[in-house]
Amino acid sequence: MSLSRRSILKGAAAGAVLTAAPMVMGANHGKPKVVVVGGGAGGATVARYLAKDSKGALDVTLVEPTRTYYTCFFSNLYLGGFRTLDSIAHSYGKLASEYGINVVHDWAVGVDRDKKTVALAGGGSVPYDRLVLSPGIDFVEGSVPGWDISAQNKMPHAYKAGSQTELLKAQVDSMREGGVFVMVAPPNPYRCPPGPYERVSMVAHVLKAKNPKAKILIFDPKDKFSKQGLFQEGWEARYPGMVDWLDASFTGPLQEARPDSMEVVVGGEVTKADVVNVIPAQKAGRIAELAGVTDEKGWAPVVPATMQSRMDENIHVLGDATNQGDMPKSGFAANSQAKVAANAIRGALTGSKVFPAKFSNTCWSLIDTDNGVKVGAAYEATPEKIAKTSGFISQTGEDAALRKQTFEESLGWYSGITTDMFG
Ligand SMILES: Cc1cc2nc3c(=O)[nH]c(=O)nc-3n(C[C@H](O)[C@H](O)[C@H](O)COP(=O)(O)OP(=O)(O)OC[C@H]3O[C@@H](n4cnc5c(N)ncnc54)[C@H](O)[C@@H]3O)c2cc1C
Repeated sequence: MSLSRRSILKGAAAGAVLTAAPMVMGANHGKPKVVVVGGGAGGATVARYLAKDSKGALDVTLVEPTRTYYTCFFSNLYLGGFRTLDSIAHSYGKLASEYGINVVHDWAVGVDRDKKTVALAGGGSVPYDRLVLSPGIDFVEGSVPGWDISAQNKMPHAYKAGSQTELLKAQVDSMREGGVFVMVAPPNPYRCPPGPYERVSMVAHVLKAKNPKAKILIFDPKDKFSKQGLFQEGWEARYPGMVDWLDASFTGPLQEARPDSMEVVVGGEVTKADVVNVIPAQKAGRIAELAGVTDEKGWAPVVPATMQSRMDENIHVLGDATNQGDMPKSGFAANSQAKVAANAIRGALTGSKVFPAKFSNTCWSLIDTDNGVKVGAAYEATPEKIAKTSGFISQTGEDAALRKQTFEESLGWYSGITTDMFG
């Protein structure tokens, strides 16, 4: 069943031919069927664009277990007290009622690539002509010795938003006076490169007001991180003496997390903590692995021009689960990739015009009240990868008015992009 990389690339290059092809009839001679697994940043966007732009010519089914999606983007602002949890919650009502998408609240538990069906945990099975997988991330088992998913209610990851984020906020808010917050940061590549460091900023913001003698320790396996100069400048200016970033060259790798005693062991030394936020190493959401479209590193390689899997041309993969090239794993990136995939799928199934793939991304981070910074880039599809063509980043030493403007820009982005995803 698996196709060689070469034949997939040939398929992608033949996009123009696909656009001219007659409409593909669905499995039961009805409309062509597209099944989307995962109703997050990538999945909700691709489902909405497919339904909206095909004007009823495609039968779109979205499989997503939860009824409320909490965005990870802006979940750090909730931790910092800048947003409510409700304000980052989104439902699938409009996708169903306004766009006619068949929203199925269930887990996809398997993909039969020969029969082109998706098996659901509830027992059903959904046929597809094209399948889109946007399942986000799962954690690499054993990457933090001593921690596994059963420990998430003691040492939360809060890297999937919702109850985990609520728990982490409650733990930070009730830290003992002068207590220690430890973050175990993830190795590359992982969801949202600046995310852990924006989180540290937001935790510091809360502690500065409520618990100024508290300390934050970051145990990091990396020797540098996204927007490092901007974050470190901000921490020194706004939270002096509170945040210590310790990389592996200084401390040695993390040896163990002990959820029962709230300890972490690094460089032979045991640190007793009040709150431990463990963000493990990551890989594509498990359904991508079950579908057989992941590589040896656990991510799904894709053809940049169409977001088709390099292992199966009838499957497209989006967002964090992909191995695509230069884009960071972000909600903005997933949304951008989803539009490229929707365009390619419509072209293949209805003969509509396919436009050249262009992608963009900006990641904003809040350091303190009204102090926003950003990094972003534009990208295009090459045969090998999604390649960066230009970029920008906030500068250290910027004045307060510019930082406020950057933060306000991020508020506009959040409301615009979530409407683009969920209608
Ligand atoms: C703390 C934090 C801050 C962030 N801040 C930003 C930011 O400011 N800007 C930004 O652009 N990005 C940010 N991100 C990153 C962003 O949240 C992700 O990159 C984005 O959500 C990826 O979209 P996705 O579609 O790949 O996955 P997700 O949005 O995670 O969606 C995956 C969906 O698939 C569903 N699913 C999984 N498996 C199955 C299955 N088997 N069957 C059915 N459904 C399934 C899940 O329930 C989920 O709803 C942040 C992330 C974190 C953790």
